Amino acid sequence: HQNPKSDIEIAQASKPRRIVEVAREKLGIAEENLEPYGHFKAKVSMDYIKSLKSKKDGKLILVTAISPTPAGEGKTTTTVGLTDALNHIGKKAMCALREPSLGPCFGVKGGAAGGGYAQVIPMEDINLHFTGDFHAITSAHNLLSALIDNHIYWGNALGIDQRRVAWRRVVDMNDRALREIVCSLGGVANGFPREAGFDITVASEVMAIFCLAKDLEDLKERLGKIIVAYTRDRKPIRASELNAHGAMTALLKDAIQPNLVQTLEGTPAFIHGGPFANIAHGCNSVSATTAALKLADYVVTEAGFGADLGAEKFIDIKCRKTGLKPDCVVIVATIRALKMHGGVAKADLKSENLKALEAGMANLERHIQNIKKFGLPAVVSINRFSADSDAEIALVKEKCKALGVEALMADHWAEGGAGAADVARAVVKTIDEGKADLKLLYPDDMPLLEKIRTIAKEIYRADDIVADKSVKDQLKTWEEMGFGKLPVCIAKTQYSFSTNPDAKGAPTGFTIPVREVRLSAGAEFIVAVCGDIMTMPGLPKVPSADSIDVNDQGRIVGLF
Ligand code: ADP
Ligand code: MG
Repeated sequence: HQNPKSDIEIAQASKPRRIVEVAREKLGIAEENLEPYGHFKAKVSMDYIKSLKSKKDGKLILVTAISPTPAGEGKTTTTVGLTDALNHIGKKAMCALREPSLGPCFGVKGGAAGGGYAQVIPMEDINLHFTGDFHAITSAHNLLSALIDNHIYWGNALGIDQRRVAWRRVVDMNDRALREIVCSLGGVANGFPREAGFDITVASEVMAIFCLAKDLEDLKERLGKIIVAYTRDRKPIRASELNAHGAMTALLKDAIQPNLVQTLEGTPAFIHGGPFANIAHGCNSVSATTAALKLADYVVTEAGFGADLGAEKFIDIKCRKTGLKPDCVVIVATIRALKMHGGVAKADLKSENLKALEAGMANLERHIQNIKKFGLPAVVSINRFSADSDAEIALVKEKCKALGVEALMADHWAEGGAGAADVARAVVKTIDEGKADLKLLYPDDMPLLEKIRTIAKEIYRADDIVADKSVKDQLKTWEEMGFGKLPVCIAKTQYSFSTNPDAKGAPTGFTIPVREVRLSAGAEFIVAVCGDIMTMPGLPKVPSADSIDVNDQGRIVGLF
């Protein structure tokens, strides 16, 4: 179970088929319904997708995971591998994934197009500029920023309080130097100096809106609802009052069409949109997921972070807003990560340790219980790493069986789709049993603070939440303004059920402090910030940019 080649070497050694052929043969899409970007990427026309409206939807499989550890889990790899595996056992399947951001790509994380023999290609394109969607989103966001300062410059008819501009600027790069800035310096001709700052593009509310919008009209309406600033007497000013939403939509008109690529095995894949999983909901666009359900019998999609954050938001935000319903949930676990949850240090993961593994199973168990709370059946997919021992694998299978779920070995990383055939068969069997009966965690009309409390107690198993009076007052004000029915999006560490990233496993006896709340009026959720949340990451001392290069043959090297 070792790949002698790196991810990019495997990807570059593959012979991709022309995307028009993949679209025609695998999905029955005629060439005129595609907008190819070169030979291996294409956008699928929105009009065509609309024309499929009366077609029956395929089955939806949500891939999520245990709480992440530095040992790695492999959700994207599993999403790709499982999709190939479904095709391998004769099903018509495709996947829907997020687009990678340039920031983490040049930082620590590297690429995000799967790994080993379970990748989407062309991986360099997908990881770098792809079809330009993120650039379009960056431009749409910054257009609104420019319009705000321009409005103030030309007399400020709306009475924007310059100290209360709530809209920052974005760039798709990890650049800590831009976190806090002073803009409009340089004299009268340049406007009124004020404090401002940059976030990374994936943290933009435009990204969240882009991913939740059902179509262009919905996109435009939501963009118009963005709150950009407040007046001196705290009246919100919306993007629509600056008449920004039409021009922003014009910049996003092509981007909103899902991007079609293929896996190493020629399986179709949509890669579209990529919101942060902390201050936003962390999954690919609604337009890609709904289109995929019209085109394939089985659609596999990934939610960011662990199931406490990713799956909860997928269900309580994305499914609530769109009516999407997963038919089966796949929880990705690795022996390594479970041992870390059981207290083993990263350096010691190579040796068998059944005791630590058993202790670490507490983390997986809680995620399994949580998925059951949503009324959804789960299958555990053990992403195989070379050091996993037979006894360790047997232990996880046995423990899962006692919890009433099937756990199977998946070796797509080393073997491609064939390596995950058992998981694919278990997923199909589970779907055929028809047990999924989606239950949202809380109703729309529950007060906002209670929604936060419900997630904290039911999913994280906190004793309670703690919030200052200012937070409670703010939530009350929003309820009075008519925002009480919105779902909440919790921004907290992904490494633990608690807000302490070091509390691995299944911690108990903690509270969740709600430090701050933010309103995303266009995306239509309230963000509850529980811990330090970075909306503009920095680069590490030796970033991955250090090893990325173009060689003599003009090929990109060093991307991983
Ligand atoms: P996630 O989506 O959970 O963040 P990814 O699927 O992107 O994780 O995988 C993260 C990294 O781990 C990738 O570089 C991938 O190549 C590597 N990886 C995943 N599965 C395995 C495995 N079974 N063996 C070795 N490396 C793996
Ligand atoms: Mg991923």
